[in-house]
Amino acid sequence: AAKEAGRNRAVRYHPALREAHVAHTVLADQLRAAVEAGVGFAMHYQPVVDVPTGRVTAVEALLRFTTPDGIAVSPAVFVPVAEETGLIGKLGSWVLEQSCADAKAWHDEHGISVTVNVSGRQLRNPHFADEVLAVLKRTGLPGAALVLEITETVLVTASLEETAEVSRRLARLRAFGIRIAIDDFGTGYSSLAYLRTLPLDVLKIDRAFVHRIEERQDQALFRAVVELARSMYLTPVAEGVETPGQAAVLRSLDCALAQGFLFARPMPAPALAEFLQQEQVAVAA
Ligand code: C2E
Ligand code: MG
Ligand code: MG
Ligand code: MG
Repeated sequence: AAKEAGRNRAVRYHPALREAHVAHTVLADQLRAAVEAGVGFAMHYQPVVDVPTGRVTAVEALLRFTTPDGIAVSPAVFVPVAEETGLIGKLGSWVLEQSCADAKAWHDEHGISVTVNVSGRQLRNPHFADEVLAVLKRTGLPGAALVLEITETVLVTASLEETAEVSRRLARLRAFGIRIAIDDFGTGYSSLAYLRTLPLDVLKIDRAFVHRIEERQDQALFRAVVELARSMYLTPVAEGVETPGQAAVLRSLDCALAQGFLFARPMPAPALAEFLQQEQVAVAA
């Protein structure tokens, strides 16, 4: 019976583990091939809206990947794999170049900025700052129109020395007008420490804080984060706004900038260009 149970266990658990491993390996191989061939990737852009005026002030560049068999994989899944395999270097360079190139016209016409997600591995590359400046030069996008979004995980695995280097690198970029945003604020373990370690301009409040913002306790927490941001001269941006009720609360809390499905979903460059033709983002409130 024990033998039987053991065998059953093996049958029940082993294939699942193996499948996860195979899926990871397959994805890593697909990403590598796609990066080499320069196919399968696309940028989508999601508007960041000034809620009181309904004006689009920026767009966040979000990477998309489709496998050769036509399956769209979430960046929440493939970005970590690209980081582990080192592919994020090449991929991140492409993201930066493509986003700045697309944003140039939108900036010229509408004065909007582009915010680009940057992984820790990219930031720890000693050539990162030079690369960013070279992209600005090539695309003609002014530094003031670029925001780099970093997460707390950037520093989690870094040594003190690496952290100091990343800070210096970011400070150098800021001297060219580039702004630095801390992304998904509030989801990490030691969020507050990062606020004094890194040179920052924007604080993006994770959608977990926005989700139940109409409830008293959550609203108090959200308000505290907005006040924290202000006291450190950081611009707060609310992520993941999905309902008119949430937008109304943001307005009452004086958190003007927001992003979320309520205003617009991420979309390909041509759709975004069309979206920007409207004066104001219509919000059913
Ligand atoms: P993020 O930087 O926090 O991006 C915001 C995510 O929230 C996006 O998911 C966006 O589609 C989603 N979102 C926006 N509004 C709403 C809303 O109202 N409700 C909900 N439920 N979700 C909303 P996406 O595009 O799947 O990206 C997931 C994450 O993948 C990003 O989170 C970012 O951490 C990473 N990522 C995406 N593109 C890149 C990239 O080019 N480079 C790097 N390093 N990471 C990237
Ligand atoms: Mg982001
Ligand atoms: Mg975020
Ligand atoms: Mg995120």
